[in-house]
Amino acid sequence: MRVLKGTGIAGGATYGSAYVYRHREFVVPHQEIAEEDKEREVMAFHKAISDILFSYASMEIDNEEEDRLKETHQTLLNDPEYGKAVTDLIINRRYSAAWAVESVTASYVDILSGSDSEVFRERILDLKDVRDGILANLMGRKDIMDLTERAIIVADYLLPSELLRIKQSLIAGIALEYSGRTSHVAILARAADIPSVFSLVSTEDVRSGDTVIIDGEEGTLVLEPTPEALERAVRNSEKRERERKRLKALTQLPAETLDGRRIELLANVQDEESVRSAIEAGAEGVGLFRTEFLYLNEEARLDDESRAEVYRNAVTLMRDTGPVTIRTLDVGGDKTIGTLGVDEENPFLGLRSIRYCLANRPLFHSQLVAILKASAYGRVRLMFPMITGIEELGEVLGYLESVKREMREQNIPFDEDMEVGTMIEVPSAALTSDAIARKVDFMSIGTNDLIQYTIAVDRGNEKVSYLYEALHPAVLRLLSLIISNGKAAGRDVSICGEMAGEVKYVPLLVGLGVEKLSMAPGSIPAVKARIREIRYEDARRLAERVLGLSSIDEIGKELEEFNGKTGNKK
Ligand code: PEP
Ligand code: MG
Repeated sequence: MRVLKGTGIAGGATYGSAYVYRHREFVVPHQEIAEEDKEREVMAFHKAISDILFSYASMEIDNEEEDRLKETHQTLLNDPEYGKAVTDLIINRRYSAAWAVESVTASYVDILSGSDSEVFRERILDLKDVRDGILANLMGRKDIMDLTERAIIVADYLLPSELLRIKQSLIAGIALEYSGRTSHVAILARAADIPSVFSLVSTEDVRSGDTVIIDGEEGTLVLEPTPEALERAVRNSEKRERERKRLKALTQLPAETLDGRRIELLANVQDEESVRSAIEAGAEGVGLFRTEFLYLNEEARLDDESRAEVYRNAVTLMRDTGPVTIRTLDVGGDKTIGTLGVDEENPFLGLRSIRYCLANRPLFHSQLVAILKASAYGRVRLMFPMITGIEELGEVLGYLESVKREMREQNIPFDEDMEVGTMIEVPSAALTSDAIARKVDFMSIGTNDLIQYTIAVDRGNEKVSYLYEALHPAVLRLLSLIISNGKAAGRDVSICGEMAGEVKYVPLLVGLGVEKLSMAPGSIPAVKARIREIRYEDARRLAERVLGLSSIDEIGKELEEFNGKTGNKK
């Protein structure tokens, strides 16, 4: 049994069969393996061959050409000389299985390419095909859509668009080498409560079909687990389920501190399904509807009309519960879309989000029309992402006015009183939030990006994740500034970054004076429970102390001490 350490992202513990998926081309390391690994490599090779033969046996053949291919491949895979050459290299020369396969195939290709016979030369392609099949089995797939049975996805990284292409019922868990806590893949995993571990140093030794355990709380991946470890995983997930049931009992109770300060808990959603989860979790409205995910799933091919229907349905579903804050398209950064391709050197600082929309007016126009139309069905709040200052905001608001004018002229109904707000997620906006507040109805702080842009640290890059710190004094001072600027202008301020859904930060955020927190539906019960066990006065004093500190360490200790004293162990 081997335990790989990473960062817990979402969900609890689970186990299942691994599905290894790699973006990179197969670069086979040419390094001798350890003596004790020989047997494992030989077995991995035989397993790869039998896996592939098994998949051929169950393959449905539609035409003669496919039949020919299948037969040729089966013959090659069953070739005893090929198999012997590979295992000889593993045993006698300490090659890894992948290296041996690569090397033996290369020598076969050499022989065939010297042949005069065209038929022989044609076999080269088949040989390479078979080699790639074996390497894919040993080192990971190259197409995520090959996943057809429920498994734990083990990958170098995943793009949000890839995750959205896979049927959710097929994903038992996610284990990645790259991606940070607030990457959009993490956000999606959390939204769906899929056990996930990211930032694993290396998953090279994991093979498709291996039984693995992942623990989304501890942040571990266990390879070759013992029966005891499997039992423990089952016990952990049962415990988590019991805890979930316990917290569910709080659904009907208010999120109120012991001394009576009421905090509104809202949900971050991305589709109809998550709106339903939000209602079930006791959300009092939607604080952030990330609309870009409706554009990311190319397979689903949603058109403008279907997207409008999703907004309408979300608003209708939430009608008796609370407002739905719909954010305009925030594409770019790690949310690249094939057709809306954002192909840039430095995408997080480039044509992202509102900048992209302003540069692509027809697309922005159709989204604004759809959101405005939805406002006729319930309470919609419109929100713009990544605003950097009042000039940009002015341009956006002016454009919104022109769209509203057109709709009035065409007698298309919409809510004339629809509130309009902006995300504050860029330091320039935070520092000028006094001026911004006067131009909008509300502000919502996007801590994911605010941290990224304040500390200049890519939120999805695990190589610098040690710098990505919500408790950086610069971040906390900005939060405090935005909240007090919002209050001074009489505007409501919420937080909708991942920080809002982390139990350990609750006292600090409440103490800073924020009255609305928006998070993944699954986080609502635990955050509510935490609010109900603290006193606002204590939290306020904590925030005051923390704002006087100048290092992450000191702040972390102060918060930990507060949490320890007031019932939270994390
Ligand atoms: C944020 O940046 O905190 C935020 C809520 O937006 P997103 O995570 O979608 O960038
Ligand atoms: Mg953001």
